[in-house]
Amino acid sequence: MSDFIRKIPKVELHMHVEGSIMPARLLHLAEKNKVKLPYQTVEEVEQAYQFNNLSEFLDLFIKTTEVIQSAEDFHIVTEDYLKLCHTENIIHTEVFCDIRTYLDRGHSAEMVLEGINAAFDAEPEDGISGGVIPCFVRHLGPEIAYQDWQILKNHQDKYLAIGLAAAERGYPASLFKTVFQEIHQSGINTVAHAGEEAGPEYIWSALKDAHVSRIDHGVTCLEDDELVEYLIKHNIPLTVCPQSNVKLNVCGHMSQHPLQELLKRGLNVSIHSDDPAHFGAFLTENLMLIQAHCGITDAQIYAMTVNAAKASFASDGRKAEMLQQLADFVPENC
Ligand SMILES: [Zn+2]
Repeated sequence: MSDFIRKIPKVELHMHVEGSIMPARLLHLAEKNKVKLPYQTVEEVEQAYQFNNLSEFLDLFIKTTEVIQSAEDFHIVTEDYLKLCHTENIIHTEVFCDIRTYLDRGHSAEMVLEGINAAFDAEPEDGISGGVIPCFVRHLGPEIAYQDWQILKNHQDKYLAIGLAAAERGYPASLFKTVFQEIHQSGINTVAHAGEEAGPEYIWSALKDAHVSRIDHGVTCLEDDELVEYLIKHNIPLTVCPQSNVKLNVCGHMSQHPLQELLKRGLNVSIHSDDPAHFGAFLTENLMLIQAHCGITDAQIYAMTVNAAKASFASDGRKAEMLQQLADFVPENC
């Protein structure tokens, strides 16, 4: 493995917590909570992690969520993930989680938020920083999102921002204009998945209707020069997930990923893992894949990591610390 990639302090901004659950933990939680899964062995779960499109993937994702039934379970899966972050030298991570999935099964929002936060709180003083970003499930529509917000607005100290995720096509951010307006009035940060499976008009809508400060994915912006110009002018971060794009057929092969083009155009890009266990690549592996197949250099990886640190929702003090860590890393490694 490239020493540079292994050693560089990393920042993860686009990772769905259930997507980090490894097969053995999935089976353990299924047994703990007496959930019947259609697979019994690690090999069978690995087999299930192969899928052909977004809708098949979302079906699998829902199955994964069924094994999590308590704050303790969320603590366990987040703790597993943070342990892995330590091995990858990830210093800050912001994890997504849909609360709706759990509310619909009679659980509370607190179960999700407090379970995830407990794992972050257990980190030592100089450990990994970050937190949770609850997301609306866009294909459930704006009324459900509004109900979620009515709950989330009572827990504002428990999350970093609010996001918009899940099946994109047919559900532009414009449908969620009212709820995002209210969120902004409360001074809460927002992000939205846009421009992954759907075109640039979905990115425009996330910017103009939902006024989000980060776009998750955003790769289809290249189809619209005016949008590219706007994204650059307003320095909007795009959290790009290369292996996810390959696995969900946004691009055929890693060598065809538009990452070099995004960078060449001057966009604010950073690299993330989306659903790393399901896609078979955590952050380090994503960086290795883009270096191997897209010709991304160490210097480009460094620049994108700085982008991620700046685009994070860490406090100003923590951001300065992370940028210092990166500045200290450069002289011996670049
Ligand atoms: Zn995502």
